[in-house]
Amino acid sequence: MIYFIYLVMFYFSIIVFLRISYPELRWNWNLEKDKKLNFPKNFFWGTATASHQVEGNCKNNNWYNWENNFNSDGKPRIKDNQKAGLACDHWNRFKDDVSLLKELGVSHYRLSLEWSKIETEKNKFNEDALNHYSEVIDFLLENNIVPYVTLHHFTNPIWFDELGSFEKEKNIDFFINFCKLVFNRYSDKVSNWCTINEPEVYSVMGYFSGIFPPGKKDAQLSAEVQKNLLIAHTRVYHKLKSLPNGKKCKIGIVKNVMQFDPSRRWHLLDWLACRITDTVYNKMSLSYLKYGKIKINIPFFINIDYTNKDAVGATDFFGLNYYSHVHLKFQFDKHEFFTNTYPKNDIMTDMPYTIYPEGLYRAIRRVKSINKPIIITENGIADSKDDRRGLFIKRYIYAVNKAIEDDIDVRGYFYWSLMDNFEWAEGYDMKFGLYEVDFKTQERKLREGSKEFIKIINESK
Ligand code: BGC
Repeated sequence: MIYFIYLVMFYFSIIVFLRISYPELRWNWNLEKDKKLNFPKNFFWGTATASHQVEGNCKNNNWYNWENNFNSDGKPRIKDNQKAGLACDHWNRFKDDVSLLKELGVSHYRLSLEWSKIETEKNKFNEDALNHYSEVIDFLLENNIVPYVTLHHFTNPIWFDELGSFEKEKNIDFFINFCKLVFNRYSDKVSNWCTINEPEVYSVMGYFSGIFPPGKKDAQLSAEVQKNLLIAHTRVYHKLKSLPNGKKCKIGIVKNVMQFDPSRRWHLLDWLACRITDTVYNKMSLSYLKYGKIKINIPFFINIDYTNKDAVGATDFFGLNYYSHVHLKFQFDKHEFFTNTYPKNDIMTDMPYTIYPEGLYRAIRRVKSINKPIIITENGIADSKDDRRGLFIKRYIYAVNKAIEDDIDVRGYFYWSLMDNFEWAEGYDMKFGLYEVDFKTQERKLREGSKEFIKIINESK
């Protein structure tokens, strides 16, 4: 009996330790809601997009192939067999879209270069595509909009995929080659560069859950790919820094941070699921950026021990993408050890997660340890009814402000996204846009909820 009591005491002391170490922050919004926002004068506001999601006619990349083929069980890869196709035709309509940025009153725009349009075949560069992006950049600058250019946002040219893409460390050379070329071409005008968008999402979705291309389900490979993307970031960073304009440009990584909170805060296995997932999703890149070290050993799943001293401090800013947290519940199912649950009083977005502004504050506090200026490179809500967007914007921006009041160096905020667009495996069903897009007519219309963003921007001027 006494041993049983000891065991119970031991169990609960671990639980108490975990609960204290990883609190799930909750604010009382009745008290917080009327507090005034106070942003520094040089804080900037922007919106973000990515090439494949908005440009249209990306026919030369891995996503095009993915969308146009079926799974081995005959099921389409994208919800209802949708395809990116013409998307928002942003390629041709970018000038009109810049007027949308002006209407919002933002000063910054984050866009990505479509590698597959620029380097159509290995070492074969398309002048028209390069000129197109020159025109886009010039037009943004003429309109006093500062471009943040992302070099890799989920898509690869087909030729690069055929070589094994980021599964092979040696393929990083091809990516560096592309980055060098576009940096030499545009860095006179573009001072802010994002290297890789969300290494953890690319590797987990493409190699663990198999929902993104190449649709593999292999935990070790997923971690290796994430490692290679992190190495690619470091190598691109140092390469670009060594080029003319390199020193004066700001070059940074973009990482998605998500918290994994236990569904049952008294259940050790829920905690275990959360800590393991966090290690792969968050800790791996944070520890790499901070100490140049990746050391993960999850028996039977992942074993990586890698050191790269060049990685320490090798980012000029930390691009933080934040959407929400998830609650994990352990289950005895050998195919899926845990499932997601949603607290019943929380407000859902149209994506399978809730509105959780406190999480953005938690994320900012966590990445502060990297000791670099933080930029919120993505934050937004899928809300087809537009009945939560205003609240989302208000509360998440409140969270950013709270972090700034704590003296954390957050420099800017990009809302995701300027307009509705192709939401990867979800197709066009997820409406993240400040502007609603009618995909038949390509008409853009400002959503009511987006006016909260305009109001905050105006008030902070
Ligand atoms: C990605 C975007 C995506 C957004 C909303 C981010 O992880 O960078 O491309 O559309 O999330 O799901």
